[in-house]
Amino acid sequence: MSRAVLSLGSNLGDPLAQLRSAVQAFSPYLLTVSPVFRTPPWGGVEQAEYLNAVIVVADDEATPEEWLARAQASEAAAGRTREVRWGPRTLDVDVITVDELISDDPRLTLPHPHAHERAFVLVPWWSVEPEASVPGKGRVLELMQALPPQELAAVTLLPGLELRP
Ligand code: AMP
Repeated sequence: MSRAVLSLGSNLGDPLAQLRSAVQAFSPYLLTVSPVFRTPPWGGVEQAEYLNAVIVVADDEATPEEWLARAQASEAAAGRTREVRWGPRTLDVDVITVDELISDDPRLTLPHPHAHERAFVLVPWWSVEPEASVPGKGRVLELMQALPPQELAAVTLLPGLELRP
């Protein structure tokens, strides 16, 4: 059994529809879908706020590379466009963890190299898996507590939005 945590983000076009399309793409493998959170843009480029969520998926067969390929296929299916590094994107799907694997392969770095310091990953993940850990980095709750409080406070729950089909 291969189990992965994926982060979803969008701030172009219809972000809610694009998050739903990603969840739909992973529907055969879905274990858990977080609520939707609204988060300020990261990286200094002037752009709209993001919608973010985290899903937990599992598959008897999938290799880590297959999770990445599925993530990239779901981005392509949402018509991903992005001109600027850290600029707006229709859909970004990152592989946060696969099981307890640790790898520095640049094609698929595990856990995702920034996951442990991004409130928009940690908060949605913690909301559905409060006991989770980032392999090699520590518990999600403790990683959240190490972030500046204003970064945590900026990730706000949007109640009542269902991403599952
Ligand atoms: P981005 O444009 O930020 O989604 O980054 C995509 C690139 O990062 C692709 O070339 C991937 O091969 C690479 N990459 C490395 N590690 C990861 C990861 N954990 N999740 C998603 N993409 C990754």
